Amino acid sequence: MECIFCQIASGKIPSDIVYQDEEIIAFPDIKPLAPVHILVIPKRHISALDQLKEDELPIITRMIDIAKQLAKREGVAQSGYRLVINCGAEGGQVVPHLHLHLLGGRRLSGKVG
Ligand code: 5GP
Ligand code: ZN
Repeated sequence: MECIFCQIASGKIPSDIVYQDEEIIAFPDIKPLAPVHILVIPKRHISALDQLKEDELPIITRMIDIAKQLAKREGVAQSGYRLVINCGAEGGQVVPHLHLHLLGGRRLSGKVG
């Protein structure tokens, strides 16, 4: 079966898209851990940060820039927010499609994830 985030990226699974361009899409996490919890993903399937090739690194910069813009739009840029990329089993990655978590809207604990 096709990866769940690829299905969201292609529109096969409808989601409440908060940002979209030719290579990136962002949508709210289905189980939010904070009042603002948005996932920013490349539309193309990349299974994990560790699988990202050196020449693909600019996508990370773009994902971070979009998360910054969304933090502003969601009203948490001033109060503060956290960006997280989980990689691999022990890193807490559950969905095997590269994604950046934007978390904000409450005081986050020191513990990540
Ligand atoms: P990970 O633990 O892999 O870094 O995070 C995966 C995230 O994807 C989790 O926070 C989980 O709630 C979210 N998630 C899993 N399946 C879906 C889905 O079908 N739709 C959305 N919007 N989020 C999902
Ligand atoms: Zn995928």
